[in-house]
Amino acid sequence: MPQDDAPNAHQPWRASIITLFPEMFPGPLEVSLVGQALRSGRWSLETVPLREFGDGRHRQVDDTPAGGGAGMVLRADIVAAAVDHACQKGAADGLPRIYLSPRGEPLTQDIVKELAAGPGALMLAGRFEGVDERVLEARNFREISIGDYVLSGGELAAMVLIDACVRLLPGVLGAADSLEHESFENGLLEYPQFTRPREWEGRPIPEILLSGDHARIEDWRRKEAERLTRERRPDLLSSKRPKK
Ligand code: SAM
Repeated sequence: MPQDDAPNAHQPWRASIITLFPEMFPGPLEVSLVGQALRSGRWSLETVPLREFGDGRHRQVDDTPAGGGAGMVLRADIVAAAVDHACQKGAADGLPRIYLSPRGEPLTQDIVKELAAGPGALMLAGRFEGVDERVLEARNFREISIGDYVLSGGELAAMVLIDACVRLLPGVLGAADSLEHESFENGLLEYPQFTRPREWEGRPIPEILLSGDHARIEDWRRKEAERLTRERRPDLLSSKRPKK
Protein backbone atom coordinates (compact mmCIF):
# COMPACT_ATOMS: atom_id res chain seq x y z
CA MET A 1 0.00 0.00 0.00
CA PRO A 2 1.46 3.43 -0.84
CA GLN A 3 2.50 5.04 2.44
CA ASP A 4 0.21 8.08 2.16
CA ASP A 5 -2.87 5.89 1.51
CA ALA A 6 -2.36 3.90 4.73
CA PRO A 7 -5.02 4.25 7.43
CA ASN A 8 -4.22 7.07 9.87
CA ALA A 9 -1.59 8.47 7.49
CA HIS A 10 -2.61 12.04 8.35
CA GLN A 11 -3.78 11.56 11.95
CA PRO A 12 -1.17 11.81 14.69
CA TRP A 13 -0.56 8.52 16.46
CA ARG A 14 -1.34 9.28 20.12
CA ALA A 15 0.90 8.22 22.99
CA SER A 16 -0.50 8.92 26.44
CA ILE A 17 1.43 7.81 29.53
CA ILE A 18 0.21 7.66 33.11
CA THR A 19 3.35 8.11 35.20
CA LEU A 20 4.73 9.33 38.50
CA PHE A 21 7.67 10.78 36.57
CA PRO A 22 6.33 12.88 33.66
CA GLU A 23 9.67 14.72 33.55
CA MET A 24 11.22 11.58 32.00
CA PHE A 25 9.34 12.36 28.74
CA PRO A 26 10.03 12.88 25.90
CA GLY A 27 13.62 12.09 26.96
CA PRO A 28 15.22 9.93 24.27
CA LEU A 29 12.07 10.18 22.15
CA GLU A 30 13.05 13.77 21.35
CA VAL A 31 16.00 12.90 19.12
CA SER A 32 16.54 11.58 15.60
CA LEU A 33 13.71 10.39 13.35
CA VAL A 34 11.25 9.75 16.19
CA GLY A 35 11.89 13.24 17.59
CA GLN A 36 11.46 14.84 14.17
CA ALA A 37 8.18 12.96 13.74
CA LEU A 38 7.03 14.31 17.12
CA ARG A 39 7.90 17.87 16.15
CA SER A 40 6.19 17.51 12.77
CA GLY A 41 2.98 16.26 14.42
CA ARG A 42 3.16 12.70 13.04
CA TRP A 43 2.61 11.49 16.60
CA SER A 44 1.60 13.24 19.82
CA LEU A 45 2.75 12.76 23.39
CA GLU A 46 0.70 13.41 26.53
CA THR A 47 1.78 12.58 30.06
CA VAL A 48 -0.80 12.10 32.81
CA PRO A 49 0.94 12.87 36.13
CA LEU A 50 -0.32 10.24 38.55
CA ARG A 51 0.67 12.35 41.58
CA GLU A 52 -2.04 14.90 40.68
CA PHE A 53 -4.65 12.24 41.44
CA GLY A 54 -3.09 11.33 44.80
CA ASP A 55 -4.87 11.36 48.12
CA GLY A 56 -4.60 13.99 50.88
CA ARG A 57 -2.03 16.65 51.57
CA HIS A 58 0.81 14.36 50.50
CA ARG A 59 -0.99 13.24 47.38
CA GLN A 60 -0.41 9.61 48.28
CA VAL A 61 -0.72 7.21 45.36
CA ASP A 62 0.32 3.92 46.98
CA ASP A 63 -0.20 1.75 50.04
CA THR A 64 1.17 -1.42 51.61
CA PRO A 65 0.33 -4.77 49.95
CA ALA A 66 -2.75 -6.55 51.24
CA GLY A 67 -1.59 -9.76 52.92
CA GLY A 68 1.75 -8.23 53.90
CA GLY A 69 5.14 -8.26 52.24
CA ALA A 70 7.72 -5.77 51.08
CA GLY A 71 7.18 -2.55 49.17
CA MET A 72 4.18 -0.52 48.10
CA VAL A 73 1.42 -0.98 45.54
CA LEU A 74 -0.18 1.73 43.37
CA ARG A 75 -3.79 2.16 44.49
CA ALA A 76 -6.67 1.12 42.25
CA ASP A 77 -8.78 4.23 42.96
CA ILE A 78 -5.90 6.60 42.18
CA VAL A 79 -4.92 4.85 38.95
CA ALA A 80 -8.59 4.66 37.88
CA ALA A 81 -9.02 8.41 38.44
CA ALA A 82 -6.00 9.08 36.19
CA VAL A 83 -7.28 6.70 33.47
CA ASP A 84 -10.79 8.16 33.55
CA HIS A 85 -9.47 11.70 33.42
CA ALA A 86 -7.17 10.90 30.48
CA CYS A 87 -10.04 9.30 28.60
CA GLN A 88 -12.57 12.06 29.29
CA LYS A 89 -10.47 15.18 29.05
CA GLY A 90 -7.15 14.15 27.56
CA ALA A 91 -5.98 12.71 24.28
CA ALA A 92 -6.43 9.08 25.37
CA ASP A 93 -10.08 8.58 24.45
CA GLY A 94 -10.54 5.38 22.45
CA LEU A 95 -6.95 4.21 22.81
CA PRO A 96 -6.02 0.63 23.73
CA ARG A 97 -4.83 0.49 27.35
CA ILE A 98 -1.48 -1.08 28.09
CA TYR A 99 0.12 -1.77 31.44
CA LEU A 100 3.86 -2.25 31.00
CA SER A 101 4.64 -5.18 33.25
CA PRO A 102 7.28 -7.93 33.54
CA ARG A 103 4.52 -10.52 33.73
CA GLY A 104 2.83 -9.33 30.51
CA GLU A 105 2.88 -10.97 27.09
CA PRO A 106 6.34 -10.49 25.55
CA LEU A 107 6.53 -7.52 23.16
CA THR A 108 7.10 -8.68 19.58
CA GLN A 109 7.29 -6.95 16.22
CA ASP A 110 3.81 -8.31 15.45
CA ILE A 111 2.38 -6.54 18.52
CA VAL A 112 4.27 -3.38 17.56
CA LYS A 113 2.77 -3.51 14.05
CA GLU A 114 -0.71 -4.06 15.47
CA LEU A 115 -0.40 -1.04 17.78
CA ALA A 116 1.26 1.16 15.15
CA ALA A 117 -1.66 0.49 12.81
CA GLY A 118 -4.14 1.74 15.43
CA PRO A 119 -4.81 5.20 16.86
CA GLY A 120 -2.08 5.03 19.54
CA ALA A 121 -1.86 3.71 23.12
CA LEU A 122 -2.64 4.75 26.67
CA MET A 123 0.23 3.34 28.72
CA LEU A 124 0.41 2.85 32.46
CA ALA A 125 3.94 2.94 33.87
CA GLY A 126 4.03 1.06 37.17
CA ARG A 127 6.40 1.71 40.08
CA PHE A 128 7.23 0.02 43.39
CA GLU A 129 5.74 -3.51 43.61
CA GLY A 130 3.25 -2.78 40.85
CA VAL A 131 -0.44 -1.91 40.55
CA ASP A 132 -3.56 -3.12 42.37
CA GLU A 133 -4.91 -5.96 40.21
CA ARG A 134 -8.51 -4.72 40.36
CA VAL A 135 -7.88 -1.59 38.30
CA LEU A 136 -6.09 -3.61 35.61
CA GLU A 137 -9.21 -5.75 35.26
CA ALA A 138 -11.80 -3.00 35.70
CA ARG A 139 -10.16 -0.63 33.18
CA ASN A 140 -9.33 -3.39 30.74
CA PHE A 141 -5.53 -3.15 30.59
CA ARG A 142 -3.51 -5.44 28.33
CA GLU A 143 -0.20 -6.33 30.00
CA ILE A 144 2.96 -6.16 27.89
CA SER A 145 6.52 -6.97 28.94
CA ILE A 146 9.65 -5.75 27.17
CA GLY A 147 11.72 -8.70 28.40
CA ASP A 148 12.44 -11.19 31.14
CA TYR A 149 14.07 -8.80 33.59
CA VAL A 150 12.72 -6.32 36.12
CA LEU A 151 13.02 -2.55 35.62
CA SER A 152 12.47 -0.08 38.44
CA GLY A 153 9.56 1.50 36.57
CA GLY A 154 7.44 1.21 33.44
CA GLU A 155 8.55 4.52 31.87
CA LEU A 156 11.53 3.08 29.98
CA ALA A 157 9.36 0.20 28.81
CA ALA A 158 6.75 2.70 27.52
CA MET A 159 9.52 4.53 25.65
CA VAL A 160 10.64 1.28 24.04
CA LEU A 161 7.10 0.57 22.90
CA ILE A 162 6.57 4.10 21.57
CA ASP A 163 9.89 4.14 19.69
CA ALA A 164 9.18 0.79 18.05
CA CYS A 165 5.67 1.91 16.99
CA VAL A 166 6.53 5.41 15.79
CA ARG A 167 9.28 4.27 13.40
CA LEU A 168 6.65 2.14 11.61
CA LEU A 169 4.27 5.06 11.04
CA PRO A 170 3.94 6.01 7.39
CA GLY A 171 6.49 8.65 6.44
CA VAL A 172 8.67 8.38 9.56
CA LEU A 173 11.48 6.31 8.05
CA GLY A 174 12.73 7.55 4.69
CA ALA A 175 12.70 4.31 2.72
CA ALA A 176 9.82 1.86 3.22
CA ASP A 177 12.26 -0.65 1.77
CA SER A 178 14.47 -0.52 4.86
CA LEU A 179 11.61 -2.02 6.92
CA GLU A 180 11.10 -4.93 4.55
CA HIS A 181 14.46 -6.61 5.26
CA GLU A 182 14.66 -5.90 8.97
CA SER A 183 15.01 -8.45 11.73
CA PHE A 184 11.75 -10.31 12.51
CA GLU A 185 10.28 -9.61 9.06
CA ASN A 186 9.52 -12.98 7.45
CA GLY A 187 10.51 -14.68 10.71
CA LEU A 188 14.25 -14.06 10.17
CA LEU A 189 16.99 -12.00 11.76
CA GLU A 190 18.67 -9.51 9.47
CA TYR A 191 21.72 -10.54 7.40
CA PRO A 192 25.13 -8.99 8.28
CA GLN A 193 25.73 -5.45 7.04
CA PHE A 194 29.00 -3.92 5.80
CA THR A 195 30.14 -0.51 4.54
CA ARG A 196 33.38 1.24 3.60
CA PRO A 197 36.32 0.90 4.01
CA ARG A 198 36.56 -2.09 1.69
CA GLU A 199 39.12 -3.70 4.01
CA TRP A 200 39.41 -2.93 7.71
CA GLU A 201 41.99 -4.44 10.10
CA GLY A 202 42.63 -7.21 7.57
CA ARG A 203 38.92 -8.03 7.22
CA PRO A 204 37.54 -7.57 3.71
CA ILE A 205 33.88 -7.02 2.84
CA PRO A 206 32.53 -10.34 1.39
CA GLU A 207 33.42 -10.24 -2.31
CA ILE A 208 29.90 -11.03 -3.45
CA LEU A 209 28.55 -7.77 -2.01
CA LEU A 210 30.89 -5.85 -4.32
CA SER A 211 29.98 -7.91 -7.40
CA GLY A 212 26.98 -5.80 -8.50
CA ASP A 213 25.07 -9.05 -9.17
CA HIS A 214 21.81 -8.27 -7.37
CA ALA A 215 20.32 -11.76 -7.67
CA ARG A 216 23.41 -13.38 -6.10
CA ILE A 217 23.56 -10.69 -3.41
CA GLU A 218 19.89 -11.29 -2.56
CA ASP A 219 20.52 -15.04 -2.41
CA TRP A 220 23.61 -14.58 -0.14
CA ARG A 221 21.68 -12.29 2.18
CA ARG A 222 18.77 -14.71 2.50
CA LYS A 223 21.12 -17.60 3.30
CA GLU A 224 23.03 -15.51 5.85
CA ALA A 225 19.73 -14.42 7.47
CA GLU A 226 18.68 -18.07 7.71
CA ARG A 227 22.08 -19.10 9.13
CA LEU A 228 22.04 -16.39 11.81
CA THR A 229 18.45 -17.18 12.74
CA ARG A 230 19.22 -20.92 13.00
CA GLU A 231 22.26 -20.19 15.20
CA ARG A 232 20.79 -17.48 17.43
CA ARG A 233 17.01 -17.73 17.39
CA PRO A 234 15.81 -21.14 16.15
CA ASP A 235 12.50 -20.41 17.92
CA LEU A 236 11.74 -17.80 15.21
CA LEU A 237 12.07 -20.41 12.46
CA SER A 238 9.57 -22.70 14.11
CA SER A 239 7.08 -19.92 14.93
CA LYS A 240 6.85 -18.34 11.44
CA ARG A 241 7.53 -19.73 7.97
CA PRO A 242 9.80 -17.38 6.04
CA LYS A 243 8.37 -16.07 2.74
CA LYS A 244 10.30 -17.30 -0.31
N1 SAM B 1 6.86 -6.63 41.62
C1 SAM B 1 6.82 -6.67 40.18
C2 SAM B 1 7.04 -8.08 39.70
O1 SAM B 1 7.79 -8.81 40.36
O2 SAM B 1 6.51 -8.47 38.63
C3 SAM B 1 7.88 -5.75 39.59
C4 SAM B 1 7.58 -4.31 39.76
S1 SAM B 1 8.77 -3.27 38.97
C5 SAM B 1 9.95 -3.00 40.23
C6 SAM B 1 7.95 -1.72 38.84
C7 SAM B 1 7.30 -1.46 37.51
O3 SAM B 1 8.27 -1.47 36.46
C8 SAM B 1 6.24 -2.42 37.07
O4 SAM B 1 5.00 -2.13 37.68
C9 SAM B 1 6.21 -2.23 35.57
O5 SAM B 1 5.38 -1.14 35.20
C10 SAM B 1 7.65 -1.86 35.25
N2 SAM B 1 8.44 -2.96 34.67
C11 SAM B 1 9.43 -3.64 35.29
N3 SAM B 1 9.95 -4.58 34.49
C12 SAM B 1 9.29 -4.50 33.32
C13 SAM B 1 9.37 -5.23 32.09
N4 SAM B 1 10.23 -6.22 31.92
N5 SAM B 1 8.54 -4.87 31.09
C14 SAM B 1 7.65 -3.87 31.26
N6 SAM B 1 7.52 -3.15 32.41
C15 SAM B 1 8.33 -3.45 33.41
